[in-house]
Amino acid sequence: MAPPRPHAVVVPYPGSGNINPALQLAKLLHRGGVFVTFVNTEHNHRRIKASAAAALAGREDEDDGSFRFEAIPDGLAEADRAADAYDLGLSAATSHRCAAPLRELVARLNATAGVPRVTCLLTTALMGFALDVARELGVPSMVLWGGSAASLIGHMRLRELAQRGYLPLKDESCLTNGHLDTTIIDWIPGMPPISLGDISSFVRTTDPDDFGLRFNDVEANGCTKAGALVLNTFDGLEPHVLAALRAEFPRIFTIGPLGSLLDTEEEDATNGGCGGLSLWKQDTECLAWLDAQEPGSVVYANFGSLTVLTASQLEEFAWGLADSGHKFLLSIRDNLVIPSGSGDGGGLPAGFMAAAAERCSVTAWCPQERVLRHGAVGCFVTHSGWNSTCESVAAGVPMVCWPGFADQYTNCKYVCEVWGVGLRLDEEVKREQVAGHVKKAMEPAGEVRRSAAAWKAKAAEAVRPGGSSFENLQSMVKALNSEAPLKR
Ligand code: UDP
Repeated sequence: MAPPRPHAVVVPYPGSGNINPALQLAKLLHRGGVFVTFVNTEHNHRRIKASAAAALAGREDEDDGSFRFEAIPDGLAEADRAADAYDLGLSAATSHRCAAPLRELVARLNATAGVPRVTCLLTTALMGFALDVARELGVPSMVLWGGSAASLIGHMRLRELAQRGYLPLKDESCLTNGHLDTTIIDWIPGMPPISLGDISSFVRTTDPDDFGLRFNDVEANGCTKAGALVLNTFDGLEPHVLAALRAEFPRIFTIGPLGSLLDTEEEDATNGGCGGLSLWKQDTECLAWLDAQEPGSVVYANFGSLTVLTASQLEEFAWGLADSGHKFLLSIRDNLVIPSGSGDGGGLPAGFMAAAAERCSVTAWCPQERVLRHGAVGCFVTHSGWNSTCESVAAGVPMVCWPGFADQYTNCKYVCEVWGVGLRLDEEVKREQVAGHVKKAMEPAGEVRRSAAAWKAKAAEAVRPGGSSFENLQSMVKALNSEAPLKR
């Protein structure tokens, strides 16, 4: 008798930065023969349906019904959804209130005729409660850490930073007096010397009980409770940190860049790009605008799903882009700009479009991987989220980085100082610096572009048959077919 088909229940943290790579991974596993149940929160399920009903329906009806979507509540009260600390509030809500619905879901799946028994709970980072559920139920587990290997080891060492007296910060002055830049940490295995501030945004606290600090320490270290760790990176990109991590925890599958491994071309045709699901309606018209531009001539600026800007920061970015002299595609997400209270709606500065209309296109939420892979794009102004960084490395597009949250500082450090594929902006956005960095990154024969092209080639090599990420994916599917080794 044929062995039962492995069934992975994929449970991402409910933000785009985790949903996108989790979905890409889920699709790769499905291609490898794994039965997949992809679990969104009810809130996100509704949003995805509103923005891409066709993509959801299309996938659910696909072939033999072996890729299914389910939803569980995220535990957040409706009144709290607009709160400032939404991301941390969401973290608190999911970790305290999602275990029971997940347990019930697994029981229901196991009792459903035609659905194979759940053989793996595959969560993303920040979902430690799901690992506890897996252990309780005796189901093997894996964790997809949504960041780089460097950010993982950095966040794991938040605990040691506290033990050695670096955290919490002594007083508020440490936030602004250069302490975060001049305090160098040179004892994290596999990492080059790194400033305290570049390890994580969560070091920016004087409170020993700070929720962000505690939560990220616990969640990063908690990943190792899983049967295996999955990273959206490739061996050649972070060899030293990966060697250090593997010495502590050998069961690591590096299978990035996920978008390249998935070969997004095929996905784009059916699902509108970006791996298929989006919390925002995607604007594909910007692709037509890009089609009309010269190769390597456009600067693309996008700040991901969580970053917010003040109206004056947007103004500096907008004029900086315009002053660079290049054409640019600027993405202004619905809730990107903090309303100033004066009822200005948080858009572009007055007169800007009239002055720059010839050279710019404004989009809201676009199919980013397709944009970055478009031949017209020559540089990416980014908040340095890991997915964006990885997608840009894969596409060979140099970056101008403006990090501000979580692991973005670490990503920026590696981009600018280790891989040489980007330039870092100061925390205080100034149009002159934006324009200057963009000009430099856009230089056709410049060093940054040359490095970006070299890393693109290495990324492509990693996802080819025989390449490390390609082979690791095969090993991961094999591991899912023999559940015993994944039990912890
Ligand atoms: N993204 C997108 N369209 C946009 C902006 C972002 O599809 O207009 C995708 C992007 O390709 C990436 C994810 O959203 O996969 C953002 O993740 P990242 O880790 O870069 O940043 P976060 O949103 O978590 O801050």
